[in-house]
Amino acid sequence: KKVMPAPRAQSKIRVSVRKRPLNGKEMTKKERDICTSDAAASEFTVWEPKVKVDLTRFVESHAFAFDAVYDASVSNDEIYASEVEPLVNFVLERANATCFAYGQTGSGKTYTMQPLPGRAARDFLSAVDQFRDSDDARGNLQLWLSAFEIYGGRVFDLLNARRKLRVLEDSKSQICVVGLQEHCVVGAEAFDKLIERGAKARCVGCTGANSESSRSHAILQLVLKRPVDQAKAQHAAFTTGEPLTAEIFGKLSFIDLAGSERGADTTDNDRQTRIEGAEINKSLLALKECIRALDSGATHVPFRGSKLTEVLRDSFLGDSRTVMIANVSPAEGSCEHTLNTLRYADRVR
Ligand code: ADP
Ligand code: MG
Repeated sequence: KKVMPAPRAQSKIRVSVRKRPLNGKEMTKKERDICTSDAAASEFTVWEPKVKVDLTRFVESHAFAFDAVYDASVSNDEIYASEVEPLVNFVLERANATCFAYGQTGSGKTYTMQPLPGRAARDFLSAVDQFRDSDDARGNLQLWLSAFEIYGGRVFDLLNARRKLRVLEDSKSQICVVGLQEHCVVGAEAFDKLIERGAKARCVGCTGANSESSRSHAILQLVLKRPVDQAKAQHAAFTTGEPLTAEIFGKLSFIDLAGSERGADTTDNDRQTRIEGAEINKSLLALKECIRALDSGATHVPFRGSKLTEVLRDSFLGDSRTVMIANVSPAEGSCEHTLNTLRYADRVR
């Protein structure tokens, strides 16, 4: 069956699919690549083996249409150029933006996400330089970085020794991650060092190599701030009792989501795994519901459905843009997970 992408010129949400190459293990097992993509038609097809012994004759195909499809030959540079650079420009010109990587563990989420913030930070830093001391609204901006992880519904600061943080709603109904450290980014090298620290913190205390990070959502935020003038700062101190030194100009968030298959760990023998699985399931469902509500212009967006959606509320509200990259493994053995990922991505869109 053929599905044509609907015209979505004004859409706030963009959904793309990226397929990784078969890995060594899959090749050794002689697994077949069951995914084909048609970039021109933005169509992604999975050939589901019905009878495993003879794939050539018993297949059922599932076709999905997305905003873009990327096959295994597409580089991270190309992903940056087509998915993230537009978000960087959007943040500089308009408002907040968010980029998600969704997919089963091992499908390439981290591979896709890891190089993106560094590229975005470089582009932001050159814009900051370009507009420095100008009368433009972007004059005198500063770039700030924070990174945290949501694990089992709890929040940990990845740039401050995994300090446990609380999520609270303030008097103005703003959700704050209390005590989250923000680091002013002075240059590209300093940024890379911070990112490296964050990546290390993600794995501290893990037992298995990839097992724990697959159960957490990692959130990295690049925030452009503008120092406020003295009169405004004094007014804020007078009215709220809090000194206001800078205001947020715009924010770009990168989210490496927990492995989508972990949401199914709700019948596992291990109690902790079950609790975490239920939490992941809840947050991925809440995310889908929020994105759908935002895209359809609904007045009620169920942000309270999970910690993940709560902390992302201000990134979504207003004139925001969201990109979701659904990562899939092409191997026959991942067929079920791949179809689940594509169905999720399809519904988000
Ligand atoms: P996830 O974060 O979804 O669990 P990873 O990003 O860790 O998955 O990817 C799993 C493995 O596949 C890694 O060894 C990674 O280097 C490799 N990989 C993923 N995507 C690609 C790609 N597009 N090209 C080459 N290797 C990839
Ligand atoms: Mg990963």
